[in-house]
Amino acid sequence: IIVCKDVNKWFGSHHVLRGVSLEVKRGEVIVIIGPSGSGKSTFIRTINALEEIQKGEITVNGIRLSDNVSDIEAIRKETGMVFQQFNLFPHMTILDNLTLAPIWVRKWPKSKAEKIALELLERVGIHDQAKKYPGQLSGGQQQRVAIARTLAMQPEIILFDEPTSALDPEMIKEVLDVMKTLAGSDKTLVVVTHEMKFAQEVADRVLFFDGGNIVESGPPAQIFENPEHDRTKLFLSQIL
Ligand code: ATP
Ligand code: MG
Repeated sequence: IIVCKDVNKWFGSHHVLRGVSLEVKRGEVIVIIGPSGSGKSTFIRTINALEEIQKGEITVNGIRLSDNVSDIEAIRKETGMVFQQFNLFPHMTILDNLTLAPIWVRKWPKSKAEKIALELLERVGIHDQAKKYPGQLSGGQQQRVAIARTLAMQPEIILFDEPTSALDPEMIKEVLDVMKTLAGSDKTLVVVTHEMKFAQEVADRVLFFDGGNIVESGPPAQIFENPEHDRTKLFLSQIL
């Protein structure tokens, strides 16, 4: 469902992605790990065209990413993203946060959008908060709202960029539990995270990023218990 070929990105003269190639199958759960500054965020942001690439090719759900605005819009409809900092609209209720894009982008009637939004809030365990504003919720609840908001657009693919890094420890589990449920669904997930236990439990494949490229990839058991490259070993010894 995602095909990246020789993806290269420069910020000015800084070569940040150095020929990344990756194929992700529909329904697969990919976890990306790696040191700070290795290009993990930049890479997943290229998948939904939040970052432009200078060389290489990206195809998402059969759509080849180019400068074409309608292609970019089509890819963004299929590709939801959840950020470290939730990025909810602070002046809108939880329910309005969830219905905004379905009403404007999917052109759903308000009643349909609200019905689905409430079902999703139920699924992430916070349907009783629908009329509140983001600032009235805990971080863990806000992140679950952000996940529900992404799901409201019914994307095939969800990209997560360190979704639990801004949370207090006691709230991490409730967000990871929602993500685990998603991992068991037919959605395709690409998750940048430092939660190694989550990676071990739910990833189909773990990618170790370093220096703007995938150094090593494989099933979690292989990467965590039997890494091949010294850089992977060093990284894991520092964080595990
Ligand atoms: P972290 O674990 O800290 O989130 P990361 O692996 O996600 O790191 P990126 O955020 O992708 O790393 O950054 C890769 C490199 O690109 C870094 O050297 C960073 O400074 C640089 N970079 C990222 N965004 C920009 C930008 N908008 N302009 C210039 N340089 C950038
Ligand atoms: Mg990052």
